[in-house]
Amino acid sequence: MSPQLTCETCGSFFVYWSFEDETFVCDKCNHRFYYEELAKEYKYFLDLVDFRLLEIPDYIYDRSYIKKLDVSAEPYDSHHAPFVNRITAISPKIGQMTGLEELDLTYNAIKEVPPEIGQCRQLRDLVLRKNYITTIPAELGKLKKLEMLCLNNNFIKELPPQIGGLTGLVYLIVDFNRITHLPKETGKLRKLEVMSADQNELHELPAEICTLKKLRQLRLRNNRLTYLPEDIGLLTNLEKLDLENNELKTLPRSITNLAKLEELRISGNTGLVSPPYKVAQLGMDAIREWFGQLPELA
Ligand SMILES: [Zn+2]
Repeated sequence: MSPQLTCETCGSFFVYWSFEDETFVCDKCNHRFYYEELAKEYKYFLDLVDFRLLEIPDYIYDRSYIKKLDVSAEPYDSHHAPFVNRITAISPKIGQMTGLEELDLTYNAIKEVPPEIGQCRQLRDLVLRKNYITTIPAELGKLKKLEMLCLNNNFIKELPPQIGGLTGLVYLIVDFNRITHLPKETGKLRKLEVMSADQNELHELPAEICTLKKLRQLRLRNNRLTYLPEDIGLLTNLEKLDLENNELKTLPRSITNLAKLEELRISGNTGLVSPPYKVAQLGMDAIREWFGQLPELA
């Protein structure tokens, strides 16, 4: 309903936008009409959160001018519950949506991401969290304009090496998956500021990650890391480092070079010996002091 709009025939305020027909429709007299000025925001920016969708309608795939498509669901919102979206697949026709800048499919039942997503070259935000996705197609790496990739709460085991092609990426969010290792190509994401990979199955990090000079946040809690790359201290812009509940045995000396670090979370790494867990828990100052008492190693 659009309160500023009245039916030009009967004067009723109960006017809605028909996404399918791209017209305003009067709910009282069924008159159809079109005002370009007001139509714009509905035509290019589709907010179809909980429209009881089981699939993305074909008429949407056919409209390459659409800039934003939000077909997410909010199943725990009692007002939304009766209308909740439950989309099970993305059609390969997604590749036709070449004008798409934002796509949000949160909380649906998507199992696969078609390779054609790589044709949506204008994509800036891609949000696929809370689905049943197991693999990410290599073609995703073609999205040079992508800034936000949100894949948390899926069943992903690995990210393809082509992810290194996402050279515009600022946010990489992959928490709550089953990722066992990050490809070394992650080191090519030179604009990355936030990497969040809490609750996965990471045993180690690629050394290349240490080249991400813009990284401000690195979140890795609830993984199985036993050590960190030796050059972690090169992440000179790092402000938050969350390592809670891993299996760390040692911290590299270079960690003391993280001058901008405001928050270091380390609890749960009870097997830490170098520095000892008790020392590490006291924070960066204590860690620096402990390393300072050690002889420099060549
Ligand atoms: Zn009317």
